[in-house]
Amino acid sequence: MPDCEVLQDREIRDLLPETAVATKPLALPELSEPDVVRHYTNLSTLNMSVDTHFYPLGSCTMKYNPKRNERLAGLPGMAHVHPYQTESSLQGMLELLYAMQEMLGEISGLPCVSLQPAAGAHGELTALMTAVAYFQHRGEARTKVLTPDSAHGTNPASATMAGLTAVTLKSGADGCVDMDDLRSKLDEDVAVLMITNPNTLGLFDGQVKEIAELVHDVGGLVYLDGANMNAILGVTRPGDFGADMMHFNPHKTFSGPHGGGGPGAGPICVNEDLGPFLPKPVVGLRDNEYYLDDDRPLSIGRVRSFFGNVGVLVRAYCYILSHGPDGLKKVSEHAVLNANYMLSRIRHILPVPHGNRCMHEFVASAETLKKNKGITAMDLAKRLLDYGFHAPTVYFPLVVPESMMMEPTETESKETLDAFCEALFRITEESSETLHSAPTTTLISRPDEVTAARKPVVTWNPGD
Ligand SMILES: *Cc1c(COP(=O)(O)O)cnc(C)c1O
Repeated sequence: MPDCEVLQDREIRDLLPETAVATKPLALPELSEPDVVRHYTNLSTLNMSVDTHFYPLGSCTMKYNPKRNERLAGLPGMAHVHPYQTESSLQGMLELLYAMQEMLGEISGLPCVSLQPAAGAHGELTALMTAVAYFQHRGEARTKVLTPDSAHGTNPASATMAGLTAVTLKSGADGCVDMDDLRSKLDEDVAVLMITNPNTLGLFDGQVKEIAELVHDVGGLVYLDGANMNAILGVTRPGDFGADMMHFNPHKTFSGPHGGGGPGAGPICVNEDLGPFLPKPVVGLRDNEYYLDDDRPLSIGRVRSFFGNVGVLVRAYCYILSHGPDGLKKVSEHAVLNANYMLSRIRHILPVPHGNRCMHEFVASAETLKKNKGITAMDLAKRLLDYGFHAPTVYFPLVVPESMMMEPTETESKETLDAFCEALFRITEESSETLHSAPTTTLISRPDEVTAARKPVVTWNPGD
């Protein structure tokens, strides 16, 4: 029997400096198990979730996640496989991941797929790194990434992280890309234009094909931020309207669990020219055997351990297969219908400055209410919590003052949408004092959000 190489407690203590060794027992709380269970169970109900409340958080696509997908992802054959198993003993999982690559390639119209990135933002970064490798291979040193002013903050951040320079594009009065501004900023330095379509205002930019042609004319690439794919599944494909690369957010579009910081996933799809530069390995199929293809000399390498967040991809796989192509198209049609229904019910009190009609979400403005009654988007959002609704996204995108970005998703009934609209109507009739002190039914009313974001306290000390 070999000697145990693991250090024993006493040996570890001998290695530590005197000051690092505790001299008295830690002041740990002494509680019984039921007290702890009750504490955490009660805490878990203080937050709103899709399972408890309507959650029209624009841009985030808080659709209901079918429990069936959770159950399937939890099957022992899914949950208990280990990435260090041999390929021959992982054939089922590799087949699933291979099918996922194929399906995402088909839905996007961009056939080469990497499942590795761990979130949408990570997908953006990975795709931009892929683009950088592609240009390097061609001997081109392009430095600029164009991002519209309505873009998600992750777009310019990803550009910076990829070592490129983000340049902002103006939106026109219609909320779409200002073509003159685009033309003035297009040159041989442009590596990538990142576009979200439909965009963050919930509008499909009909100029997208022309935009793509202009970018391609100067030798640049078009990146489609796929966070809004819930609006166009099976209706149109980014690869067909000019995109060269994109990411999916399975936790938005394909019912992955959402929030709490993840895990998410951010698979990316690119065209055939860019395919060789994708992270490796990808899942391949050879002689009826699935395998991890590491033999990719132009690849940028790994961006994530193993095959990505497989548990999320399994849920997405189940979601896509359980809908089928026609079902996915219906998802988007219903998402768009629900958003338009809500838009037309509330626009008389909360005008929607951009567009008469929207895709799967829209951005209303509380500017008039603020002027006439001193009620802000924040007041409305806070008061909605008292009425049992999660608030819409507020103050994003920045191009609309007092913005409230609403995305009901396809999984909500007309009754729920009506109840939400009526709550909003009632709230706008309330006194500004009531609204300023809302919410009154939550444990914490109005935290100092700036301090919470800038100086988060994420530790707990006994006695605090
Ligand atoms: C959510 C979102 C992202 C980022 O995706 P994550 O998965 O949260 O990293 C990027 N762009 C848009 C438009 C989004 O809505």
